[in-house]
Amino acid sequence: MTEIAQGIHLIDTELGGKKGLTSAYLVEGAQPALIDPGAETSADLLIADLHRRGLRADDLAWIVLTHIHLDHCGGTGALAAAFPRAQVIVHERGARHLAEPERLVAASHDVYAHTAPIYGGLSATPADRITVAPDGFRVDLGSGGVLEMIATPGHARHHMSVLHDRTGALIIGDAAGTGLPDSNLYVNLPPADVDIEGGRDSLRRLRERAPELITLSHFGPTADPEITLAIADEGFAQAGEAARTGYARGGRAGIAEELERVLPFAATISHAPAVELWQWLGWDTNNVLGLEIWAQRQAENGQTTQ
Ligand SMILES: [Zn+2]
Repeated sequence: MTEIAQGIHLIDTELGGKKGLTSAYLVEGAQPALIDPGAETSADLLIADLHRRGLRADDLAWIVLTHIHLDHCGGTGALAAAFPRAQVIVHERGARHLAEPERLVAASHDVYAHTAPIYGGLSATPADRITVAPDGFRVDLGSGGVLEMIATPGHARHHMSVLHDRTGALIIGDAAGTGLPDSNLYVNLPPADVDIEGGRDSLRRLRERAPELITLSHFGPTADPEITLAIADEGFAQAGEAARTGYARGGRAGIAEELERVLPFAATISHAPAVELWQWLGWDTNNVLGLEIWAQRQAENGQTTQ
């Protein structure tokens, strides 16, 4: 566990047994919060880590989710069971899936395909333990300050970023893409509801908040918040343009080709072990699938408005 800002601790949830891939955050306070438990397969590790840190069953007040992809939320049911006083904070589009996870798990496993066992599933959270967070929702940490939930669609419609008022640290989830240790930031735009313009607008609103620090779910604090947001914005713009032109020219294959031309995958990430992790999880091909769905919608909307 590493303290990345005063009172905020990064916990490596070791997705698939790999270090430096997915992170959860423990934010201290009289009412402490755990942000993004990670995959169901990481739940035992995370719970043991929290116990080791001295958190007893009744101590955790909040489980906060940036979004309901299984590498972020899969451990929610298990964590909620281990910490029975904790209330789960989630975007309104995520709430019903936490209470009745079957559809979400089935749809996610379709996307993850052969890598689904790495993530596991998601056990149900009792409905009365779930609180829907609108944009601007404030999570009271007691003596630890406040976490503000900021709606940041783009990577997914149900994505929220979390700003800690006391330190100015922004736990950005996947809203700025993925930047694994020693490698560069790259777009992370999986199925099924990528929103390029929405994503750029989210980044603009985050920039206005002038965060002191940005930390990525995958993985950890970045060197400079402004530069991170600028690179992420450029990535959305380039990926969107590549998807539009590539789709018109040749559908999915066209998108893959065009994306590789404007944002060469391995050359941009520029660190072989990180490239291998991306490919092991299939996140590179998921980008193409996510962008294809987006481009298809754009093409359909274009037709109906003409
Ligand atoms: Zn995600």
